[in-house]
Amino acid sequence: MMESCGVKEVLDWRVKSGVGIWQPKALMLPASVVCAFSSRQGGVSGGPYTSLNLGLHVGDRHEDVVTNRRRFSDALGIDCEGWVAGDQVHGKDVAVVGRKDRGRGALAQDTALPAVDGLVTNEPEVWLTCYYADCVPLLFWDVDGRAVGVAHAGWRGTLAQVGLQVVAKMVEAFGSDPTEIHVLVGPAIGSCCYSVGEELAGLFEKEFGGEPLTRKQVQTYLDLKLANREYLVRGGIPPDQIHVSRLCTSCLPGVFFSHRRDKSPTGRMAAVIGWRKP
Ligand SMILES: [Zn+2]
Repeated sequence: MMESCGVKEVLDWRVKSGVGIWQPKALMLPASVVCAFSSRQGGVSGGPYTSLNLGLHVGDRHEDVVTNRRRFSDALGIDCEGWVAGDQVHGKDVAVVGRKDRGRGALAQDTALPAVDGLVTNEPEVWLTCYYADCVPLLFWDVDGRAVGVAHAGWRGTLAQVGLQVVAKMVEAFGSDPTEIHVLVGPAIGSCCYSVGEELAGLFEKEFGGEPLTRKQVQTYLDLKLANREYLVRGGIPPDQIHVSRLCTSCLPGVFFSHRRDKSPTGRMAAVIGWRKP
C-alpha cells in the first residue's frame, strides 16, 4: 500500500500514549520544526467521530474534541493553548499570525481567524493548524526553520491556488525565497477514490491538461495532490522540495476520517506545524 509503484511514503506512523500520528522522516525537517498529521486513533469521541475527532465545527461534543486536541498536543510535546486555526471557507486568503494569536480557534471555534484557509508565522511556538477529511493539507517550512505555513485545499482551494498564496505571503511577510521553501502535501483522498463529474474534471483539464485525471470506463478520477504539486512547481518551488504523501484518506477507514466515504457527519483530522527555539 505505502510503497506502490516503487515510491516510498514520506510519512512515518507512530503511536504515542495511544495516539496515532503521521510525521515526516526526521531528516526532512530543520531541527526546530514540529510537524504532524493526526489519525482517528487515540481519542474519546464516539459514533461517527470515533475516536480522535479534532474538528470543533462538525457536531461532535465540544468537551470531547478539546480532550482529543489535548491528547494530540501532548503526544507531540506541544501546548494546545498555542494552536491557531482559521475558520475555513474553501477560499485562498492567508493570514500572518504571531504569538499574540496563540489560542485562536484552539479551544473554541468562534475565536478562529475568520474566513481564512491559510496561515503563516515566523514566531516560535505558534502551532498552525488546519482541519480536513479528504481535502489536501499543505505544510510549508523555510530551510532556516524560522518561517512556516499551513493551507487547506479542497478542489476549490486548489484551483484558487491557496498553496501559492501561502508561498507569496511567506515571501512578502518574512522575506522567504521560494527556492528555500519545502512543502509537505499530506494525506488526502487519492485518485484511487476521488471520482468527479465532467464539469469539475473540465476545470482541471483546462488548467493542467489530462495529467491529474484518470478515466476508467465512464468514471473520471481526480488527483488533487498532483494538481497542488503542479501549481507549486509553477510558482517556483523546486520539485524535489515538494514531498507528497501517498496515503489516501478514503482507502484507510481505520486510520482516517473521509467525508466522501463516511458522508456527513464525520470527524476531522488536523495538520499542525510550528517551530521552537532549540
Ligand atoms: Zn483511495
